[in-house]
Amino acid sequence: MQAKFVSAGQSCDTVMYSEKRFIMGYDNEFDNKINKLTDFINECNSIVFFGGAGVSTESGIPDFRSKDGLYNQHDIEFDMYEPEYLLSEECLHHKPKVFFEFYRQKMDARNVKPNITHYMLARLEKLGKLDKIITQNIDGLHQMAGSTNVIELHGATTRNYCEKCGKKYPADYIFESREAIPRCVECNHMIRPDVTLYGEQLPAGAYESAVEAIRKADMLIVAGTSLKVYPASGLVWEFAGKHLVVMNKEPLDFKLDMNKDIEFNCAMGDVFRALDKNI
Ligand SMILES: [Zn+2]
Repeated sequence: MQAKFVSAGQSCDTVMYSEKRFIMGYDNEFDNKINKLTDFINECNSIVFFGGAGVSTESGIPDFRSKDGLYNQHDIEFDMYEPEYLLSEECLHHKPKVFFEFYRQKMDARNVKPNITHYMLARLEKLGKLDKIITQNIDGLHQMAGSTNVIELHGATTRNYCEKCGKKYPADYIFESREAIPRCVECNHMIRPDVTLYGEQLPAGAYESAVEAIRKADMLIVAGTSLKVYPASGLVWEFAGKHLVVMNKEPLDFKLDMNKDIEFNCAMGDVFRALDKNI
C-alpha cells in the first residue's frame, strides 16, 4: 500500500481565488501583472527560478509534517516522534526501521505528475530563457517535466546509494525493498536515499552553484517558499539583476521595487497557466 496523493488539477484555493477575482474585479490587476511578467521574460535571457514546497503542492505532494495516511506496520508508533525527527540523520542512524517505514509511506512520489509550473519552466529552458532551476524539493518533478539544468539543494528521492561503498541504487529500490532496512548487495551496509536530512549538510557544491547562478541572473523568480529559513533567505540577497518576481500565497515581508519587480499572492498554477498562453 502506498500513501495516497490527491490528483493534480484545480485546487480549492484556485477556485476561491478565481471567484474572488471575479467578485472584486481583480482580473485587471492580475492581467496587468501577467503582461508585465511576459515583457520581463521577453527582455531577459538568464532567468533563474528558485522554488520551494509550493511548487509541488499543486501536484498533490502532501506535507510530510502531516501524519495522516500513515499506517502502523512493524509495530512502529509514529506518534512518538516529531515529523522532523522522522526525516533526520539521527533517526536514519539510530532508529533506521522507523526511518524507512516513514520514508516509504510518506516520501514516495513516484506516481506524482509534474504540474503546469514544472512544464512551463521546462519550456522556458528550451526557449533559451531560463538558465537554472534551484529547488528545495526532493521529488524530481522538474526533471520529469523535461528540465535539465536543476540544482537540487536537498537531493532527490529518485536516487539511492550505499552509505559505505557508495554503490548507486535506482529510484524504486528503497520503496520496493521488502527488508525493514535495505542493505547493499556488495557490502551489506545500509542503503539510503540521496536526500539531505535534518542535521545534514547540503550536498557538496549545491549552495555554491546556486549562488553562482543567481549572481549571473538577469531575472530571479522566487516561488513557493517563505524566504524565512536558510538557505532561501541568504540566496536572494545574491541577486543583482533587473527583475525580482516573487510568487507566494502569503505576502512576504520582503522589500520589492514595484517599478521593476512583481509579487503574486495567488496560486502559482494560475500564473504559469496564463504565461503559457502568452509565450
Ligand atoms: Zn555497499
